[in-house]
Amino acid sequence: MSHRLINGRDVAAQVTEALEDRLQALRAQDTNPGLAVVVVGDDPASHVYVRMKGKACERLGMLSRTHILPSTTSEDDLLDLIDALNADGEIHGILCQLPLPPHINERKVIERIDPRKDVDAFHPYNVGRMLIGDPLFLPATPAGVQRLLISHDIETRGKHVVVLGRSNIVGKPMASILMQKGEGGDATVTVAHSRSTDLPGLCRQADILIAAVGIPFFVKADMVKEGAVVIDVGTNRVDDPGSEKGYRLVGDVDFDNVKEKAAAISPSPGGVGPMTIAMLMENTVKAAEMTLRP
Ligand code: NAP
Repeated sequence: MSHRLINGRDVAAQVTEALEDRLQALRAQDTNPGLAVVVVGDDPASHVYVRMKGKACERLGMLSRTHILPSTTSEDDLLDLIDALNADGEIHGILCQLPLPPHINERKVIERIDPRKDVDAFHPYNVGRMLIGDPLFLPATPAGVQRLLISHDIETRGKHVVVLGRSNIVGKPMASILMQKGEGGDATVTVAHSRSTDLPGLCRQADILIAAVGIPFFVKADMVKEGAVVIDVGTNRVDDPGSEKGYRLVGDVDFDNVKEKAAAISPSPGGVGPMTIAMLMENTVKAAEMTLRP
């Protein structure tokens, strides 16, 4: 079957371009969106993501502040920084890169962020608003998946979507977004996880299969219905001694084989990843707009 490639880089560029007018309108009112990214410790993947977010801000001329704290930072010091950022008029969006070191209570930190600056949408207030279908912000990765589907005219209404993974960051919000009423929603959603039985059978029922398990090449061709749409959220490092870095990034989907059965498929890298950054920029612009019309 000839498949359609779902190109996240192109759609992310369109999302970013569409922000230009909104940025101009904000600047005309002396407001430039500012994003503060906090990272604690030296997880290499976190530092890569933080750099990408900073660069995306700079490309748009937005203020970007990165706070890199040592892994020994106390919970109280981190909470003090969040308080300072909440009170900082130049900062409209705050995100704290996860995971945090084990001695810091992640929930406590997330709940300290002002929900109106919570551009990751991980605060329980924003999770609740999303669930009732009246979001302030949507979490960037699942919102990016929804935008990818809409931009490729992939109908979700009445379709059976199987989401592989139930994390608070991807799986659960993904399911919540797709079950809402309206464009890019109205789907019948199944959420599968490590305790699900007959996972391959469940996956084969999917009109749209969204993989967010964090296991390289987990989704094989025999788990995919002929003509299904497959979205790969996975970003996994695998050893690659031949490459300069010694590793390469791969998704959760066995792309080369699955693409033969899929009607449309997103690659990883180059699919959901760029969308995540673009949606985060959109959320930060929205956060700044909200300060002008509360
Ligand atoms: P996570 O917190 O580790 O969650 C993984 C989920 O997969 C869990 O719900 C887990 O089930 C499920 N799972 C694990 N093994 C399974 C198995 N054998 N069968 C069925 N389900 C299984 O990961 P995450 O944060 O959601 O991230 C998932 C992937 O997306 C990772 O590769 C991550 O790097 C990537 N990601 C990409 C972006 C992006 O911007 N592109 C953003 C976020 C994450 P249990 O709940 O039962 O343990």
